[in-house]
Amino acid sequence: MDINLNLEFITSAALYEQCLDHQDNEIAFVGASNAGKSSAINALSNSKKVAKVSKTPGKTKLFNFFKCNYGYIVDFPGYGFSKVSKAQKKEWSREIPKYFQHRDNLIGVLLFTDIRHPMKESDLEMASMLVDLKLPFKVVLTKSDKISVAQREDTKDQNKKIYSEVISFSTKDKDSIARLRREISVLLSN
Ligand code: GDP
Repeated sequence: MDINLNLEFITSAALYEQCLDHQDNEIAFVGASNAGKSSAINALSNSKKVAKVSKTPGKTKLFNFFKCNYGYIVDFPGYGFSKVSKAQKKEWSREIPKYFQHRDNLIGVLLFTDIRHPMKESDLEMASMLVDLKLPFKVVLTKSDKISVAQREDTKDQNKKIYSEVISFSTKDKDSIARLRREISVLLSN
């Protein structure tokens, strides 16, 4: 059965203290810029417009809140985002750990990374911060249509040796979209 998340952009926050106040569960979407996070949000929502807001130049806010049937997805800016000033990056490097340490609504994180490349240093730093903070996270290997099925399984197996929860995903594969929707609904409903 394909679940409809009814994803809808609600608001953004530039600082942790400005984050939306609500009672539902949240999962955070993190990853390097170009990992495919916005495309994933659009694919999950069936709408090309949903994730556009977080990509509009000058409007990049730290935390972007998307409501869905089961809770909230909070999209973080892609790390390594070149259009962002040094001062802005410094601010984010203070605010992001605050969110992970203090946000009571947060129940887990999805870390998006391109299946074709080894994890970047910034991905590894993110993963190690999540481990240190004991925050459950799943690795989402994106753009899985770009490699063969055999390579996909191999890359998944390699990653599973390090991270217990690994999912492959492609915006071009309806089954993988349905799978990710189910994962999100299960995570948020718990
Ligand atoms: P973001 O910076 O993490 O939000 O990355 P985007 O969603 O903008 O994706 C970066 C590039 O990868 C774009 O050119 C997308 O069209 C492409 N892309 C994203 N997901 C997929 C996918 O599943 N398959 C393929 N073939 N391309 C993808």
